Amino acid sequence: MVVRIPRSHPRYESLVTREKLVEAYNDGIVVVEGLIAHGRGEAFDYLLGEKSHGFALAAERAAVASMLLAERPVISVNGNYAALAAREIAELASLTGALVEVNLFYRTEERVRKIYELLRVRGVPGLLSPECEKRIVEGLESPRGVVCSEGIGSADFVLVAIEDGDRTQALVKEGKKVAAIDLNPFSRTAQTASITIVDEAIRATRNMARFARELRGYSRKELEDIVEGYDNRETLKLAFRALLSRLEEASERGVL
Ligand code: ATP
Repeated sequence: MVVRIPRSHPRYESLVTREKLVEAYNDGIVVVEGLIAHGRGEAFDYLLGEKSHGFALAAERAAVASMLLAERPVISVNGNYAALAAREIAELASLTGALVEVNLFYRTEERVRKIYELLRVRGVPGLLSPECEKRIVEGLESPRGVVCSEGIGSADFVLVAIEDGDRTQALVKEGKKVAAIDLNPFSRTAQTASITIVDEAIRATRNMARFARELRGYSRKELEDIVEGYDNRETLKLAFRALLSRLEEASERGVL
């Protein structure tokens, strides 16, 4: 910890999360742009009431059902996601059998190795080696588009978190199903993903691990029913509505 935060502080969780990211920044895991991106996420989480809404839970459940149905599911991990949720990622990967690949917007081989090491120490199974055979995702210039051929390169389902819109768009264009954890329903990521999870990355991954424990016992047919019954446009509408009603309530009362 860089600064000691008293447990009684009303924004304890949020401040601890910030400290986690600052530490990860000092360790060369998170880049400064990642700290800025976190601020945007926090603002949306604040507006949404810092809780997992029903529409997020429905998206998380559908994402897990898709993951269990997929032949080659992969969890794509960047610096922020690793710094925040390594333990939750470990749990989700072990329950779903998904492979885990370090994939970075600001890619340097040194940072890939550092994040890989962090995930390995936290017990993440199915981790793809930084030395994997590589290919470039069409529409993303190198080094942003570099992926493992046996990971994201040949995946039929990819879970991304705290990601930029280009990557999500490029993966969808390649015919992959993409679930994206992103607190901003306006972002290009949120708008182009097959399944948009408007929830905070730690909470979302924890919820997904809980769903994986439940859905692992389901038949293919039951999982397919969950996926078919899911409507992403409806999720986005409900996310915007949640923002609107929080703001409406606040604007009527003035005092929270
Ligand atoms: P896009 O390119 O998709 O339009 P963007 O330019 O906002 O989005 P980035 O700057 O890479 O993309 O930001 C990543 C996204 O991650 C932001 O939309 C932000 O709201 C979201 N985000 C940041 N921190 C978290 C978090 N802890 N959990 C979930 N989402 C987060």
